[in-house]
Amino acid sequence: MDPISVAVEHNEQYVGRHGTRHLPTEPAKHLAVVTCMDSRLDLFGALGLDLGEAHIIRNAGGIATDDVVRSLVLSQRMLGTDRIMLIHHSRCGLEGLNEEGLRTSIAEETGVRSEMAFGSFTDPAANVRVTAKRLDAEHALRHVEVRGFVFDVDTGSLHEVELTTD
Ligand code: ZN
Repeated sequence: MDPISVAVEHNEQYVGRHGTRHLPTEPAKHLAVVTCMDSRLDLFGALGLDLGEAHIIRNAGGIATDDVVRSLVLSQRMLGTDRIMLIHHSRCGLEGLNEEGLRTSIAEETGVRSEMAFGSFTDPAANVRVTAKRLDAEHALRHVEVRGFVFDVDTGSLHEVELTTD
């Protein structure tokens, strides 16, 4: 069976375990997690989160794109979150990615030149700091705290990154 059909079938059992719960839209822990789309990151398991407790905003790399900022503005101003946990991770697909090589292969295959920035980086901890700085500079955001971490996908452990406060 294809993986989407497996997922749909799984949901039939999940509904039985889930039951009917009318949780509020506002996350109970007032927390937003910004992280990578990586398939080895189980945020609920790794952070002890349950349904209704936190927003989890994901993209390739967990970087502060315009759309992440859009989600955080809504998260904070409409749904009451006030803390941001940034989680980047080891062995990310973006670590050391040759962006120009990717753009060239897209151009060769499609005949259309892309100027897309993919967000490659060399040091995950440094990338967490860059992301935190970008979020702190966004005037529409009003969080009281940002903390940054690098998650080890091989052990499941979280390592805090010291964020510069200049
Ligand atoms: Zn990643």
